[in-house]
Amino acid sequence: MKKILVLEDEDSIRSFVVVNLRRAGYEPIEAPTGAEALEKLRANPDIGVALLDVMLPDIDGFEVCRRIRAADSRIGIIMLTAKSMEMDKLTGLSSGADDYVTKPFSTAELTARIDALYRRIGSGAEEQEEDELRQGPFILNMRTRVLTKNGERIKLTQIEYALMKLFMSSAGKPLKREEILNAVWGRESGAEEKVVDVNVRRLRIKIEEDPTLPVYLGTIWGYGYQWNT
Ligand code: CA
Repeated sequence: MKKILVLEDEDSIRSFVVVNLRRAGYEPIEAPTGAEALEKLRANPDIGVALLDVMLPDIDGFEVCRRIRAADSRIGIIMLTAKSMEMDKLTGLSSGADDYVTKPFSTAELTARIDALYRRIGSGAEEQEEDELRQGPFILNMRTRVLTKNGERIKLTQIEYALMKLFMSSAGKPLKREEILNAVWGRESGAEEKVVDVNVRRLRIKIEEDPTLPVYLGTIWGYGYQWNT
């Protein structure tokens, strides 16, 4: 069964999420504090997705996210943010989260986002296409899901990997933000287009010499992005 970590200090919200995840066929693992979440993750290395509340009694949810991400680039991370926390959403994504869901959320919304993320994570196993993509100094190995630039490894999250794969395989072709969102997060995920921008920005920090003057991953104003060949 697919294990999901649920970090949420409010008992009522946590139980609500847990009950519904169980109903949707997942195996939720509960943690009311950041410290417990990190402990449960160490004890359950097969957890595929972590849902992280931001406001916690001990460690800030973003800090939990950073610590998880520092140890594991494969796990999917969704931040549970409060309404009107625009900046927090961005902070969450820059600390390594793949997506965010705003409270109050519906069960359908949450499970759609989790399902989409799981599809992304699981999509590596059955890939039977070419082994690698090459663009300039970059090689993306799709069997090992490893990206190198001039032979040096660049660590990617699942979403960043999916973005790189999409961009490198569509080199020279302008991609609409909506198109990118559908391809990487899934059409039915309900994710917002802004999440594309935040992840592109994070990806640029990893792959570009100067992320403010991107050479490889170009912006097409009012439209989207393009991998420059
Ligand atoms: Ca909270």
